[in-house]
Amino acid sequence: MGLPFQQLKKLWLLYLFLLFFAFFMFALSINLYVSSIQNYDQEHNQPKPAPRRRSVFTRKNVIAHYIGKGDIFGNMTADEYNINSFNPIQGEGAEGRPVFIPPRDGFRMQRFFRLNSFNLLASDRIPLNRTLRDYRIKECREKKYSTALPTTSVIIVFHNEAWSVLLRTITSVINRTPKKLLKEIILIDDASDRTYLKKPLENYIKVLAVRTRLLRTPTRGGLVPARLLGAEHARGEVLTFLDAHCECSRGWLEPMLTRIKESRSSVVCPVIDIISDDNFSYTKTFENHWGAFNWQMSFRWFGAERRGVKREDPTTNIATPAMAGGLFAIDKKYFFDIGAYDRDMKIWGGENVEMSFRIWQCGGTVEISPCSHVGHVFRSSTPYTFPGGMTEVLTKNIARAAMVWMDDWQYFVFLYTSGLTLSTPNEIDVSERLALREKLNCKPFSWYLEHIWPEHFFPAPDRFFGKIIWLDGETESAQAYTANMKNLPGRLISREWPRIFNEIHKNSDQLVSLLDLERDKCLRATKRDAPRTSMQPVTVGDCTAHPSSMDMFVVTPKGQIMTNDNVCLTYSEQKHGIIKLLKSRNATTSNVQLTQCFDEPKQHWIYDMDTQQLTHSQTKFCLTLKSAKSVRSHTTEKIVVAVECNIKDITQKWGFIPLPWRM
Ligand code: UDP
Ligand code: MN
Repeated sequence: MGLPFQQLKKLWLLYLFLLFFAFFMFALSINLYVSSIQNYDQEHNQPKPAPRRRSVFTRKNVIAHYIGKGDIFGNMTADEYNINSFNPIQGEGAEGRPVFIPPRDGFRMQRFFRLNSFNLLASDRIPLNRTLRDYRIKECREKKYSTALPTTSVIIVFHNEAWSVLLRTITSVINRTPKKLLKEIILIDDASDRTYLKKPLENYIKVLAVRTRLLRTPTRGGLVPARLLGAEHARGEVLTFLDAHCECSRGWLEPMLTRIKESRSSVVCPVIDIISDDNFSYTKTFENHWGAFNWQMSFRWFGAERRGVKREDPTTNIATPAMAGGLFAIDKKYFFDIGAYDRDMKIWGGENVEMSFRIWQCGGTVEISPCSHVGHVFRSSTPYTFPGGMTEVLTKNIARAAMVWMDDWQYFVFLYTSGLTLSTPNEIDVSERLALREKLNCKPFSWYLEHIWPEHFFPAPDRFFGKIIWLDGETESAQAYTANMKNLPGRLISREWPRIFNEIHKNSDQLVSLLDLERDKCLRATKRDAPRTSMQPVTVGDCTAHPSSMDMFVVTPKGQIMTNDNVCLTYSEQKHGIIKLLKSRNATTSNVQLTQCFDEPKQHWIYDMDTQQLTHSQTKFCLTLKSAKSVRSHTTEKIVVAVECNIKDITQKWGFIPLPWRM
């Protein structure tokens, strides 16, 4: 009995379709597998620089819509955010590998991401004791540490931290620290409201292999009051502070304690590796990173070798002008002797820079131990509220640090940080901290800049600070500028930067009055909110002050032209010559760029007071404004290039207009 022909044909088609579908799924899974391996390899073989700590300004932008409960939780109910859905899967995230969430959970994943600004679902799949690789360099792995080291209390403060993340931090401390050195773990709950952080946490820590205490702040005060509470209760000889979303890797503590034993006034930070906020993979960071801050006092990482520092032994610590703040070890007695923390700094921010200034200026050192690796979940927004308003709280913390430690430079911070003004100090009382500075007989900020951060990009008495205007020969101010500055005798003298700074300084009032904000054109990056890490073509644009954009410059006596965030005017040789490049598809390519500062001839410039030409010192090419047609957008762009000098060319003339930066 055969099937009718029509039915047979249908079955045959169905069979073909199924065969095709099975093949397609097979190909897809192979593809996914290969790309996951590639991702994994990429992440693990190429150490990345540590991400920046969030800046005041990115915070402000990113966070604005997170403030207020309704927005943090979306349409989530208390039942949902109070639930502890930790559900580990054997082997997930092992060796620091990333975790992938099945597509069917994509929606849930996004909803729960907002609670902590990291992928909670990913963390909840990883066992508390997941394995990590050994991220230390060979020399560190081979180093023998004394067993007679001081003991430590590990202090972890948190506000509404996720269960799996907090407990993985604790577990990594217990599992990777010699018992003999670990006196205790102190948890400080900064007024969290999640129910799993109440009784369940209390019960959980009772059975841990290391004595663990849980203290709670009476009201939400932020990380400074919480850490102070922890420090007051600590019984170890050294205080080791960690954020509540870290993982300590093998051998993390011994190098820090060794250094503190040897030098009690050294404050030591680990290398901070990156735990992805997205998939919780652990990525090693370069050992050579160090920290400082930008014009708005936001912490920044830098990767270049420190100037004048030769490190023959790669296991020796790197001096850092500032610490990131979350992770460090400090001798307990020294911590209190040196003034602990400024108790009036609230919630988050500024305390790390304040502590760095204080330690350096009052005789201690801040260092990064290349042999100590601890992972930290870096987030791109803040998941918690800022009682009192984020900008208000943050800028007040920054103002306190500036008023106590920065001497003349505090006015620069007040003038060019949004949210601060010259009258801010009237509302703030730092008398207690000033008395501490007096008592400890601390050095001035000028000493700090000169000796601890010589490569800094802040104004200084022997530097120029202000705008660089394009003297197109037409505006009145341009002509007046030329008339004003054209009277230095002798060509050689007219090209010496200190002499030029002097001259500008002498004529300061006149020069400032010449600036016509509406009509003049100032040197600046082509894009207003350009990322500061990559190369930026340069142009001229309106001269109104944009504190966070690259149109204000510091010129050093060596002729480096620097702007905020360690960005410098740089000559970069182009293979094909500029003109050809300008005609090519990408019209914004030029041999002059704004890039990271390095103390190299590429970034040294000479100014001639007589001709108003700004010349690259090595090639003797003149900074010139050119019009270039963009093939892509069919518009004409003005772009700054360096070409042969021509005394008659009015597009090669530049002027320096000073801006105030101190009282
Ligand atoms: N923290 C706190 N109270 C606050 C704000 C922060 O206890 O009001 C804790 C937070 O849980 C974390 C540490 O302070 O353990 C540092 O904060 P965060 O990780 O947000 O700072 P970041 O690492 O992003 O600089
Ligand atoms: Mn953190």
